[in-house]
Order: sequence, then structure tokens, then C-alpha cells
Amino acid sequence: MSALAQSVRAGFESRFAAQPASLWSAPGRVNLIGEHTDYNDGFVFPFAIDRRTVVAMALRPDRLLRVASSFAEETVELSLDDLTPENLAGWSAYPLGVAWALGQFGADLAVVAGFDVFIDSDVPIGAGLSSSAAIESAVAVALNDLWQLGLDRRVLARVGQLAENRAVGAPTGIMDQSASLLGQADAAVFLDCRSLDAEVIPLGFAPADLELLIIDTRVSHAHSTGGYASRRASCELGARMLGVASLRDLTVNDLPRAAELLDDETLRRVRHVITENQRVLDTVRTLREQGPTAIGALLDASHVSMRDDFEISVPELDLAVETARGAGAIGARMTGGGFGGAAIALTPRSLIPRVTAEVTAAFAARGLTAPDLFVVHAADGASRAE
Ligand code: ADP
Ligand code: MG
Repeated sequence: MSALAQSVRAGFESRFAAQPASLWSAPGRVNLIGEHTDYNDGFVFPFAIDRRTVVAMALRPDRLLRVASSFAEETVELSLDDLTPENLAGWSAYPLGVAWALGQFGADLAVVAGFDVFIDSDVPIGAGLSSSAAIESAVAVALNDLWQLGLDRRVLARVGQLAENRAVGAPTGIMDQSASLLGQADAAVFLDCRSLDAEVIPLGFAPADLELLIIDTRVSHAHSTGGYASRRASCELGARMLGVASLRDLTVNDLPRAAELLDDETLRRVRHVITENQRVLDTVRTLREQGPTAIGALLDASHVSMRDDFEISVPELDLAVETARGAGAIGARMTGGGFGGAAIALTPRSLIPRVTAEVTAAFAARGLTAPDLFVVHAADGASRAE
């Protein structure tokens, strides 16, 4: 049993004075490319990472839900009879929101048993590595087992998304939960967010002596507020003005027409989504045909588009990307929703110490909070553990 699993089991026992039925876990994810394309019905290419959220859970003889986490002192309690999005707030809205959302996808919440759950995680919170999808997916697979729902993983991804949209109030897409639930070791999930078709594509980083370095700027983002929602609104406006159901229906050939019809800001938002969708397709094709050393330029172009057209970068992310490239990374971009969080740098293994040192020094020279740098590997998705 991993140290994390041991501490989750111990945490459950001390909070609830009982044994869990079992443990389940789900990974965070990093998005290799395809940012803000998911809610535009487009393409994304994330992978599950070797950082996980572990939950210990047991059903109860009554209708009570008790939720505890190593991140919070409080144990939150709610009856299944009171389980509505309006009654949820704070961190417990993630696990309890999943229980509610399962009811929207077939679980009969009028008859299921209550549960106790204890949660711990080594996915950094708020770093753009989706600790939120990790907690949702871990709870979703646990309840799918204990409530014997037999729901498919693609449905569980939609359950997690609904929880995040309705119970938490963050208007995020389906990408994070799909990566956390469908990911496989050494591979990324090529996801069509319209059809929800997912294809697992080998990354081949190890044989190419490449590592994916995360640079967590430790500038925190907040998806439920401000920028994320306004970008989403711009995309909806652009699609409406161009007469399509979503920006997915447009290609680079539509850009001249968009330039005629849209105001400058909406045009730039739309252009990011259109070109980013194309970059995802190009990345998948390039990986297959030429291998991972050939995708660097696409990562770089994605960053420029987010910085200049979608305007979701921050100076710390730009500094991380530029310094990593200067120190030998073959491609780098901010990842996740933006306004903070992490950048990724695809880096030859031998250069990881140099990139780490130079990025750290660049932040120190500007008096910025020291970033956290670490390598992640593509890992398997959610699973039942012991
Ligand atoms: P990200 O998904 O990028 O890490 P979010 O803001 O989407 O950032 O989600 C982070 C939130 O998810 C936390 O603030 C907390 O409310 C909740 N969360 C994530 N992991 C845990 C955990 N292990 N225990 C309790 N809450 C958690
Ligand atoms: Mg999140």
C-alpha cells in the first residue's frame, strides 16, 4: 500500500472510528495541448499524471453523508434528503456534488445508503493539474462501486463535470474528468469533446529521453470567478455571430469572415479556439508520424495564442515559458484554465536540472514567489485500490 493510501485508511479510521469498505483513487491531469477548446465542443489532448487523490469510503446504515479530508479540520454532514446543489458550499461541494450528480445520471437517491468518506491527495491544489477532477473522479468511481450503479467511465466523466458546473459553480468542460477516468500509462487521451470519442495515444516520451516538467507558478487561479466565465461568454458570442452551434464548427478557412463580422476582442478569442483545435489535431498527427521531439513548436504556438489572443496568461507564466525554452526545453506553454497555475516544458531528460535552476533563478531575480518544479509521467486513470 502506498504511503498516501495508508494515511487515507488511517484518516478514515480516526475520523469515523470504523473501517472503510475499500479505497479508490483518481489522478490529476495535465493538458498537453488544447486549452479552452473543451466547452467549444473541440479537441483536447490531456494525460493523467502520477499524482493522485485517494478516498476511503464505506456505506452507512442510514441516509447520512459524512465527508472529511486531510485538507480540512471539519467533517461535513448532510442527509441525502437535503442533497441539492443549493445546499452545498466549500470544498465538500466537490464530493457531495458528485453524489448529487449521480442522481441526475440514474442513481436513485431516494433509496441509496448514506456514506462516510475520507479524502487525501498529492495533487497540488489550484495549480492547474485538476485536483478538482481527481477528487470528483475518485468519489465517482467509489460510489459507482458501492451503490452498484454500473455506470460507464464516460458517463462518470459527465457526472464529475455536472458536479463542478452545478454544485461548485465552475463552468468547466469535460476534459479534466475524461483524463482522470480514461488515462493510461505512457499515453494521452485524444478527446473529441462533441462526440466524447476518446482515443488513447502513446506519448513515447521515455524512449525519446524527454520529460514533461511542470512549473507551478503558485499564482492561484479561481475558475468560478471572472476570467474563465468571460472567455466562455466571448466564445458563445463569437459562435452566435458566425451562425454556428459552437466554435468547433469553424476552421482556419473561416478566419477572414470572422475578421469582417467580429469586434477585435471577440475575433482574437475565436481565433485562439480555432487555431488551438488545429494544433491539437496537428500534435496527434505529429506524434504518430514523427514522435514527440517534433511537437515542440506546436506547444510554443499554443502559448503565444493564449498569451496574445485569448489573454489568459500572466507574467509569471510567460517568464516560466520563456526561461524554460531559453534553457533548453524543446517546447513550453501555460497549461490549464489560465490566470495562474502551471506551465509545462517538454525537456530533454539531461537538461531538467538546468531548466529547473534557470527558472528558479529567474523568479528569484524578479522577487517572485519561488515556483515549484517537478516532472510528471502519464499514469493510469481512476481505479479501485486494495
Ligand atoms: P485545480 O483543479 O486546478 O486544482 P480548482 O480550483 O478547480 O483547482 O479545485 C481546487 C479545489 O478542489 C480546492 O480548493 C478544494 O475545494 C477542492 N479539493 C481538491 N482536492 C481536495 C482534497 N483532497 N480535499 C478537499 N478538497 C479538495
Ligand atoms: Mg479544477
